[in-house]
Amino acid sequence: MDGSAPVGEVRSTCPYCGVGCGVLLRPDGAGGLAVRGDPEHPANHGRLCSKGTALGETVGLGHRLHAPVVDGAEASWDEALQHVADRFSQVVAEHGPDATAFYVSGQLLTEDYYVANKLMKGFIGSANIDTNSRLCMASTVVGHKRAFGTDTVPGTYEDLDQAELVVLVGSNLAWCHPVLFQRVRASGAKIVVIDPRRTASCDGAALHLAIEPGADVAVFNGLLRAIAEAGAVDAGYAAHVEGLDDALAAARADTAKTGLSPEEERVFHDLWIGTEKVVTIFSQGVNQSTSGSDKVNAILNCHLATGRIGKPGMGPFSVTGQPNAMGGREVGGLANMLACHLDLENADHRAAVRGFWNAGPLPEAPGLKAVDMFRAVGDGRIKALWIIHTNPAVSMPDADAVRDAIKGCEFVVVSDVTGATDTARLADVLLPATAWAEKEGTVTNSDRTISRQRAVLPAPGHARPDWDILAEVGRRMGFGTAFDYETPAEIFREHAALSGIAGGRFGRDFDISGLADLSDAAYDALSPTRWPVTSSGKGDRFFADGRFFHPNGKARLLPVTTRPPAAMPTPEFPYRLNTGRVRDQWHTMTRTGLSPRLSGHLAEPYLDLHPQDAAALQVTHADLVEVTSPYGRAILRARLSDAVQPGQPFAPMHWTAETAPTGRVDALVAPVTDPVSGQPESKASLVSIKRMEAAWYGFAVATEKMNPDCDYWAVASTSAGFRMELAGYKAPEDWDATARALFGISDAAAISVSDPARGTARIAFEQDGHIKAALFVGSTPIAIMRDYIAGLPGTAAPANLTGRPPADVVDAGAILCACFGVGINTIVTAIEADGLMSVEAIGEALQAGTNCGSCRPELASLIMRSQHKEAAE
Ligand code: SF4
Repeated sequence: MDGSAPVGEVRSTCPYCGVGCGVLLRPDGAGGLAVRGDPEHPANHGRLCSKGTALGETVGLGHRLHAPVVDGAEASWDEALQHVADRFSQVVAEHGPDATAFYVSGQLLTEDYYVANKLMKGFIGSANIDTNSRLCMASTVVGHKRAFGTDTVPGTYEDLDQAELVVLVGSNLAWCHPVLFQRVRASGAKIVVIDPRRTASCDGAALHLAIEPGADVAVFNGLLRAIAEAGAVDAGYAAHVEGLDDALAAARADTAKTGLSPEEERVFHDLWIGTEKVVTIFSQGVNQSTSGSDKVNAILNCHLATGRIGKPGMGPFSVTGQPNAMGGREVGGLANMLACHLDLENADHRAAVRGFWNAGPLPEAPGLKAVDMFRAVGDGRIKALWIIHTNPAVSMPDADAVRDAIKGCEFVVVSDVTGATDTARLADVLLPATAWAEKEGTVTNSDRTISRQRAVLPAPGHARPDWDILAEVGRRMGFGTAFDYETPAEIFREHAALSGIAGGRFGRDFDISGLADLSDAAYDALSPTRWPVTSSGKGDRFFADGRFFHPNGKARLLPVTTRPPAAMPTPEFPYRLNTGRVRDQWHTMTRTGLSPRLSGHLAEPYLDLHPQDAAALQVTHADLVEVTSPYGRAILRARLSDAVQPGQPFAPMHWTAETAPTGRVDALVAPVTDPVSGQPESKASLVSIKRMEAAWYGFAVATEKMNPDCDYWAVASTSAGFRMELAGYKAPEDWDATARALFGISDAAAISVSDPARGTARIAFEQDGHIKAALFVGSTPIAIMRDYIAGLPGTAAPANLTGRPPADVVDAGAILCACFGVGINTIVTAIEADGLMSVEAIGEALQAGTNCGSCRPELASLIMRSQHKEAAE
């Protein structure tokens, strides 16, 4: 495959998760884009998940930032960049380089990332650059470096095709890396899921091990003991590793409970030990923990002891969250790394990078990791902060404190595609950056494959690429020729050349020097390429030969012992909150939230609560609940579910002040971190829960944005405009006036039906015979056909507004299959009426589940629910 694409299409890469799927983009010439999976990309072979499939719906420009903004007023690039350069220079001169910081993102392309890192570490002279990848996979980086000597991901996606057993640890692969999950399912490998929560990834799994939160080390120490007892240590591979005896001694001394029965443990051990081709995939459930680094090493220990690493169909495999988390690691985007997997604390490495960059002295000690960085912003040590393509006011733990810290910082620059984020609203300077499909560069996915992102749409207004913005600030700060780039290809070549020093002189793993001489045309046409690519050739297997990157060439097993989560439940905070993601949203929804299809899956922030907990709390399904931690408070919709364990509620983390101000789940998360990786413990926060004593609940739909003023609201896009859930502790006296204020309507005619005694009201506004907006109010959670109502704005006004569709209109229900827009009611009706007994049968009847496959686990669970219902009848 090369970079050329079918006529009219351009090859690029999906901007969401670390799977790094290839896409074919066909611009329509009017700003729109058709998107399909690239059949030739090795990551996805044409498949896309629901998020990738809906990419074309997210390229609208309505929310975009078109020009720089300085202190609230539009400015020219010249003014804005000079201001940024002057303020950073001034802070460095007055307070030293460590009074400045960059907080960047796995959304950045490698070329952007490289320039940001070079500017901060090489020229401003501080190591205070960290990335939101710190929240994602910093523990894996530590685990890899401790075991292998470098941050090397040994696995490849082809291993998943060849594996006979795939163990998912702390990974809801079905929702967070859907195309990989479908790839695993298609391979026919047995699946074991290790997760306190029963997730969509348990669909079709041979075993679900619902462990205690934080018991991953105990589980893999138990496996290591079993490996030794079964005589399954690979004696031949033992020459390539060291530390087995100490690791085993630690495992034998680790008596922590796993939460599993002896039988469950035995079955898992037998399966793992008895299957040579085993891939252990791990993700945020492992990494986001105060013992995340040790969890990673506990997993690596088992693979190293058995020699199941670096060979086809086997190995430990960290899957990354963001599209370019791996690229960020390559360029040294973390505060404790140097470019090209070189070490900041190694004087020889620093000297080599300094010489290559022709820079001043590089910082000798690591900079501030994310949580500490925002503490330093809060207490005034950081006085100039540049945040690029990320939303820490929402996504950092203790998010309220982070928001306040940014608000109080002397000088804050935000580069983003939109000014409408919680973080961008706090900026002194806003810089409009180009978005996906408008910019050129590379990303690296979870299996080390470098792919091109290509521009197919014009940048709106004055938006510029990030590398260009950063380089211009570097020049204006006086660093001249070091930032004299004219194209991303130049930056790529420089990065590749530096990697040749890292690989050639220091024997590092990351070496793409074979690409250092790419012409501009060859860079444009670059096809997906897995590193390493050295000047002497290409090899994409690490460790098969038993050679690792520690000075003696051996891998190290590390003795690790279970440490429970940082805080234990108390009478005041008796619940342990787990956080995560939903299938159809990405991070803080700045892009996916624009797609009505994606918003139709789960349209409101929620809390999954075990029925036992709900009974104890006197909470019923669809109640709103107040969730409080020592750090913050949220209001979430309760969903009763036995997929979570008693005492372990779960909430997704996507909602923001823009979409649901009381749904900011990271405001609840404690800012406690792994002592080595600095990664926060995002999955084990202590909270209390109580029912929200709301006096009223509402559901509203409108063609235009709404202006809510109440204690709870959550908004989502629809094909007709917007839908909103609302609630308040005190009911307004005048619903008509409240509705007009909500919709910003003063003159349109209202159809209003209210029953003050029952606390209900229905108010609809119409114009020219068409519904403009409608509000439904009740004293209990509103039971109406939401998906039908959500489609009403803009349509001919019905004779009366009952909240139910007319007899001849079917309410399809919430969208379950986002690709074909098939609602849950349609599917349940077909299952029950037509006796559909398999996911394939649903696909044949309704198309649901036949494209990306992301909804297949939910289809399977609907079939199972229907079968249980039948059996009970
Ligand atoms: Fe994008 Fe989905 Fe592929 Fe991830 S799995 S890269 S979100 S299409």
